[in-house]
Amino acid sequence: MSTTPLAIAPTSVSAPSGRRPWCEYCHTDEHLVVESIGPLSPSQRDLVDVEYTCSECDGYYAHPAAVCQVAKILGDDGTAPSVLRFGHDYIHCGEPMQDAGRDIYRGLPDVTVPTRILRCRCGFRLAVPN
Ligand SMILES: [Zn+2]
Ligand SMILES: [Zn+2]
Repeated sequence: MSTTPLAIAPTSVSAPSGRRPWCEYCHTDEHLVVESIGPLSPSQRDLVDVEYTCSECDGYYAHPAAVCQVAKILGDDGTAPSVLRFGHDYIHCGEPMQDAGRDIYRGLPDVTVPTRILRCRCGFRLAVPN
């Protein structure tokens, strides 16, 4: 076994790449349960740090993954494409979206639904139920 010398210039630090959440023991992603999601440090576009367990074999995994891949595991509810929902957090471009203020969304004439407006650094905005 030989060791490969690391020759990485300071300006081209290799970025972590996303890996599909997968249980290597069960060879499926069917039983995966997402435990936590957070931005990478430093943050990477469309990548998040995800921790998950497999409810079938109790396996535990943690690694960077693409937002869209994690959304599949979470059972994307179709709120919006490429938006990942985890608890009260919505993640876009690999970062939790920021609260951009509050607004009242008038869906029906006599029904007002309080909403939060979330904004991503890319300019994407999403209105979510408060
Ligand atoms: Zn498993
Ligand atoms: Zn975004």
